[in-house]
Amino acid sequence: MEDIREKISFNQVEEVIKILSPSIDSYLYILDIKNDTYCISANALERFPIPTQQFQNVLETLKQYVYPEDFQILQEDMMRIMRREQDFHNLQYRWVDKEGKAVWINCRGRVMFDEAGEPEFLVGCVNEIGQKQKADNVSGLLGETSLQQEIRSHKEGCHSGFMLRIGIDNFKEINQNRGMEYGDMVLRKTAECIQSVLTSSQKLYRIVADEFVILDFSKKGAEDARKLFDKIRLKINSFIEENQYEVFFTVSGGILDFSVQQGANYTDLMKWTEFSLNEAKNRGKNTVYVYNEQDYKAFLHHRHLIQLMRQSVNHNFKGFEAYFQPIMDIKEGRLANAETLLRFHAEETGMVSPAEFIPLLEESGLIIPVGRWVLQQAIITCREIQKSIPNFKVSVNLSYIQVLKSDVLEEILSSMKRYGLKPGSIVIELTESGFLEADTNFIGFCNGLRENGIPLALDDFGTGYSNFHYLYNLNPTTIKIDRSFTLKALKNSYEFNLLQHMVDMTHSIDLKLCIEGIETEQELNKICEMGPDYIQGFYFGKPCPLKQFLEDFVN
Ligand code: C2E
Ligand code: MG
Ligand code: MG
Repeated sequence: MEDIREKISFNQVEEVIKILSPSIDSYLYILDIKNDTYCISANALERFPIPTQQFQNVLETLKQYVYPEDFQILQEDMMRIMRREQDFHNLQYRWVDKEGKAVWINCRGRVMFDEAGEPEFLVGCVNEIGQKQKADNVSGLLGETSLQQEIRSHKEGCHSGFMLRIGIDNFKEINQNRGMEYGDMVLRKTAECIQSVLTSSQKLYRIVADEFVILDFSKKGAEDARKLFDKIRLKINSFIEENQYEVFFTVSGGILDFSVQQGANYTDLMKWTEFSLNEAKNRGKNTVYVYNEQDYKAFLHHRHLIQLMRQSVNHNFKGFEAYFQPIMDIKEGRLANAETLLRFHAEETGMVSPAEFIPLLEESGLIIPVGRWVLQQAIITCREIQKSIPNFKVSVNLSYIQVLKSDVLEEILSSMKRYGLKPGSIVIELTESGFLEADTNFIGFCNGLRENGIPLALDDFGTGYSNFHYLYNLNPTTIKIDRSFTLKALKNSYEFNLLQHMVDMTHSIDLKLCIEGIETEQELNKICEMGPDYIQGFYFGKPCPLKQFLEDFVN
């Protein structure tokens, strides 16, 4: 040991790290313990949020990329080195990559002591122990590490050509339903079909379980990638036909055109192609999607909104607010009801439209706690207003996710009981789109509402495939005509007549009808000729916070 100690200096090791790092996958490092300075291979900066190749104030900087829960074990190990209890560092713990994902690493290093026997340097190497294979034996293809090396060997980034990421649709189900061996066969066949249509400028890799990447650095672009994808699909389809549909599967593809996204690094390419493949799958599978920066930004924005809303849920729903809009009983000429309309507001985004955030709440499952909260607000408000207007009703919009994935009927009943509300006080609104005739949970929910005397309003009637079958199955008490349909009826005589017939038909089967979206007196007069029961629209009042609603309509 003595010999080595006398020979090394920080600068020398730093030079060696620079020379070696392009040739190895691991990250070499040196820590100058006395001067609190650290140097690591440049390739670590591509993958982890490490500010510079060389930095000071080491422990504080490490906090930027060491997994927070693992920081203590690292610190404890360093303390043992400082106390001279060990002269070797060998620790498996996690770092966090640039996308915020945990990555298991094994960090090993030798402690070098100075003449006085004090620890001076720690020199060693970091390996990613979750590292993907270099090659894959099932498909006989190169793996992600090889792909990474190939992309990194393009020093100035990728400027022309494309990357096509292919995923087998529903691969998990294929494995579950037909067994692992069958799954392996599908993988092998997919690899063979892809391989058989590639040109000499194209290389194929298998990355994660059911995903492949084709790299082409020639002058080709997105259109060529699309054609290649079609060829692959044809090849797979003819294999399926040859086997008389004994085997059946489809693939989706995500394309990135290097000439459009110039000079991107490995992490970006993987991120963007992962997004593109997911988009293709979200758009129905068995299809291809070409990366588009605008879509990706929208995706990031939505992901951020979900994060903000999750935080809000965890902070007592701060940022959410229930607004109320009056619904007038036009025959009696009085305020009958208020619809609860959810609002979300965050400092950095301002007011977000429900058209944007409701689908995100549904996608993330947050609609369940948020919907429960809205219901609570509606019930409290109804009890408050009933003190002045005894038969006042409050409507609440329910999402299908709430109906299918939570016991929302039980929640409605128990909350109403807790606040002492009469059964008819809360009206449930469901849109006609998303209605699942075949789902027994859903039919059970509608029957439960009826048995407990809770009125159901069929919302947005006239926007989807308005089907009289729904009326039979859902058995609503009220039908709400959407504003888009109201506008058409105000403009065209055909829709006007249609709406008139709908009003008459609704009345003939003893249902009530509410027309939404009335903004002016003229519109009101024209619509009232048809004899609807209720009117909701800006003419009578826009959705507003409870305080304002009470001031304007109740007190
Ligand atoms: P909806 O249930 O059909 O609500 C009526 C929408 O029409 C509201 O939009 C309301 O502001 C708007 N509106 C009413 N009268 C007029 C008018 O005269 N002119 C115009 N231009 N618009 C009018 P909002 O509040 O943006 O809500 C949009 C949709 O978001 C709602 O449509 C509902 O489907 C959904 N939503 C709102 N709150 C909730 C909630 O708490 N839960 C669920 N699941 N969905 C909700
Ligand atoms: Mg509604
Ligand atoms: Mg509506």
